[in-house]
Amino acid sequence: MADYQRGTDCLHAGYRPGNGEPRNIPIIQSTTFRYESSAHMGALFDLEASGYFYTRLQNPTSDHVAAKIAALEGGTAAMLTSSGQAASFFAIFNICSAGDHVVAASTIYGGTFNLFAVTMKRMGISFTFVDPDASLEELHAAFRPETRAVFGETIANPALVVLDIEKFAKAAHDHGVPLIIDNTFATPINCRPLEWGADIVIHSTTKYMDGHANSVGGAIVDGGKFDWNRYADKYPGLTTPDASYHGVTYTERFGLGGAYITKAVVQLMRDFGCSPAPMNSYLLNVGLETLHLRMPRHCDNARRVAEFVKGHPKITWVNYPGLAGDNQYDKAQKYMPTGTCGVVTFGVQGGRAGAETFMGGLKLASIATHVADAKTCVLHPASATHRQLSDSELVASGVSPDLVRFSVGIEDPQDIIADIEQALKEV
Ligand SMILES: *Cc1c(COP(=O)(O)O)cnc(C)c1O
Repeated sequence: MADYQRGTDCLHAGYRPGNGEPRNIPIIQSTTFRYESSAHMGALFDLEASGYFYTRLQNPTSDHVAAKIAALEGGTAAMLTSSGQAASFFAIFNICSAGDHVVAASTIYGGTFNLFAVTMKRMGISFTFVDPDASLEELHAAFRPETRAVFGETIANPALVVLDIEKFAKAAHDHGVPLIIDNTFATPINCRPLEWGADIVIHSTTKYMDGHANSVGGAIVDGGKFDWNRYADKYPGLTTPDASYHGVTYTERFGLGGAYITKAVVQLMRDFGCSPAPMNSYLLNVGLETLHLRMPRHCDNARRVAEFVKGHPKITWVNYPGLAGDNQYDKAQKYMPTGTCGVVTFGVQGGRAGAETFMGGLKLASIATHVADAKTCVLHPASATHRQLSDSELVASGVSPDLVRFSVGIEDPQDIIADIEQALKEV
């Protein structure tokens, strides 16, 4: 397809109907696909022919949507997963085994932190968490001979720390490992990490990409530039024959542009089965069709909210990377000149109790364990998403006990602000 702008890709990338075919991506709600000979089926299993056979591995609806996300991020290949958590897990586990090590920013999403520090640790993979504002020298000190990847978030949820992607990419590449970026909050409308040196991008599509709070999902995109062959001894899973897949060597058969995603599909999807429902992929695509319209509105509304709370006497502090004067503003201007995200965090007078009174007084905004969708919602992370973290882990992840995470929707901004104003009167 022609090289279109991102807004056009939101509508058209990944699926081009033929003559007389449906204009919307068809929902192929089928577990299985029919073949006329077992020889043909065998060739599919050997990865010698391409085609679908079982939706646990691949499904046409999901693949069209993955191709759209690959185009939006500027990658060479992509896959959808059943959740953002599955995407984070696969992204790491695809290139790490027991004994391997990963360097990750300490500010990452609480669910990802738990996945890494607790659950994947039980699989024998160890993680070192680094301050995202560490110097290059300090970053270098976190690496070990068995380090296999670096992981961070473009804008951390909910710490709202902007990652210096170029610095992290340099540290990763100096040590011959890829940089994996969770681009959930920025979306490819505001930032394309692959253009700043990242190698792999993941998403919780549950957030802005879906945008309407209807389907949990994830995506993994490969930039296709990391040279697995150059570091073949570190990534034998990609560069030597896979006995569990008929002796295929992924880098040889699928090239640098396809090896990583193909391996994740045929090994990890086969074995773990975190595949999205075709219906959910269809709904995700409906969301993606307006991503380029929604993101600027989220960002504009969030900036207005940030400016309002900043000047309010009952608000003790405000973080919003898109607000001039914010300590993340300069990095945000570099990596996201057109906008950051719709999430604003702040502290309410009276700490934890003040936050609870404020949240209870909101009428338009709902209290929800969600973020980054069309309707304004609010959460107190210390008692919800981050409650498994100890106080010191909370501080390291940039989440103070009084932090209110305010996810600004795309309603009329005066109504959102009036709601905040009346709720603060109760505090
Ligand atoms: C929500 C979120 C995740 C986890 O995604 P799920 O779709 O809830 O599994 C990962 N990273 C970030 C930044 C998130 O906001």
